[in-house]
Amino acid sequence: MKGLVIKNTGSWYLVKTEDGRTIECKIKGNFRLKGIRSTNPIAVGDYVQIIINNEGTAFISEIEDRKNYIIRRASNLSKQSHILAANLDQCMLIVTINYPETSTIFIDRFLATAEAYRVPVKLIFNKIDRYNEDDTRYMDALINLYTYIGYPCFKVSALNNIGTDEVKKDLKGKVTLLSGNSGVGKSTLINAILPEQTLKTGEISDYHNKGMHTTTFSEMFPVDGGGYIIDTPGIKGFGTFDMEEEEVGHYFKEIFEYSAQCKYGNCTHRHEPGCAVRDAVEKHLISESRYISYLNMLEDKEEGKYRAAY
Ligand code: GDP
Ligand code: ZN
Repeated sequence: MKGLVIKNTGSWYLVKTEDGRTIECKIKGNFRLKGIRSTNPIAVGDYVQIIINNEGTAFISEIEDRKNYIIRRASNLSKQSHILAANLDQCMLIVTINYPETSTIFIDRFLATAEAYRVPVKLIFNKIDRYNEDDTRYMDALINLYTYIGYPCFKVSALNNIGTDEVKKDLKGKVTLLSGNSGVGKSTLINAILPEQTLKTGEISDYHNKGMHTTTFSEMFPVDGGGYIIDTPGIKGFGTFDMEEEEVGHYFKEIFEYSAQCKYGNCTHRHEPGCAVRDAVEKHLISESRYISYLNMLEDKEEGKYRAAY
């Protein structure tokens, strides 16, 4: 029987079957996914085949090909990775101008990583009720920038239910991963979007306290009109994608566009002569903040270190 994995506790999975039942399933100890070394090979969003025994227990026998998936490495040194979620239609990154401030470096690293995973991103600017004139002006400038590059933006006050209907509408019929630094209002927004859910702000915080961020625990919640939101408690973003130095520029859309005119094909847009990207930054055709984020990601590559994007 075919089903959708809607919850992953690390030791068992909740599978929603085509006939509408939700069944707790285990996986066989020898279950391995080709090409992926993972301590936990199945993720929420996976479509699976399950087999139900006579005793009423069930196990997952097969997993369908994924259209995409996001991973998180177990540690900087480990090659082992956790699959956080599969088959995403989009990701919504919640950011705040203030209380707390979300840096553009964090936003841009997240966007670049999502490009590498081929997951479209939308930005939710939350807590608009708290911003002063300067904050609001800066927010609008950022919204102009990101909308222009191709990332749709929402202005929201999750606390006051402002702008939440637009977000809700956009979730319909899609599988959406919600991300954001802690404190930006992710649980408040989930509560505003899913009023019928018993999920409370405090419950999510409990996951943090129990150190759940070191596990793959994640869950999908159905939204009105079809579709799901995925919450990965304790995980604020994606793990950095493994990419080559000259690849980083591919994931900054506007940098990639200009790079076609660079003198050297393998230009890293730092000091090379005839660099069309640096020229575009000087002419303000590429935003300086985006270029700084790009250099920041390159620096990680230079030092050969792995830095988490969350
Ligand atoms: P999370 O860590 O991202 O899940 O953040 P929470 O949802 O727990 O919110 C953190 C704090 O920000 C709480 O005190 C919320 O009440 C507050 N908060 C969330 N959304 C808003 C908002 O739209 N406006 C204001 N003023 N506060 C908010
Ligand atoms: Zn260049």
